[in-house]
Amino acid sequence: MNLHIVLYPNKVLRTKTKKVKFPLTNQERKLIKDMLDTVKHADGVGLAAPQVNQSLALIVVNLESMGLKPFVLINPEIIKASKKKNEMDEGCLSIPGVFGFVPRPEEIEFEAQDVDGNKFRAKVDGMLAKVIQHEIDHINGVLIIDRIKKYTQGKELVK
Ligand SMILES: [Zn+2]
Repeated sequence: MNLHIVLYPNKVLRTKTKKVKFPLTNQERKLIKDMLDTVKHADGVGLAAPQVNQSLALIVVNLESMGLKPFVLINPEIIKASKKKNEMDEGCLSIPGVFGFVPRPEEIEFEAQDVDGNKFRAKVDGMLAKVIQHEIDHINGVLIIDRIKKYTQGKELVK
């Protein structure tokens, strides 16, 4: 089911989320499925639960263009980040029309849980690392407009 995407400046986007507890409720399982549907429908590369009005530490990533099956990360946290940073022109489904260069660590190591609550760690870089950092920002109430160094579009839309 396609969910409504919450837009800036809705307060839920600025609220630190709650950790997800296990086992997942049926509602949470449905939410994950719906978030995967929603990110594909919106043609986005990632989506965090606050963007569909759920203040939970839950994100989905949709990088099928890179040959990755869409996946969910529950309670994700960055454990290590490279000193080396680079910038990508980022947008956000919750802030339509606004784009800009956001400097972020090139490589990160993160920990997360799967739908069964199993913890795992992974090291990622490139586009995948950018998307995961963008979405983890969302679960901490941080938005690209806090991080953009140089706007490429829509600066006037942000006060
Ligand atoms: Zn976003």
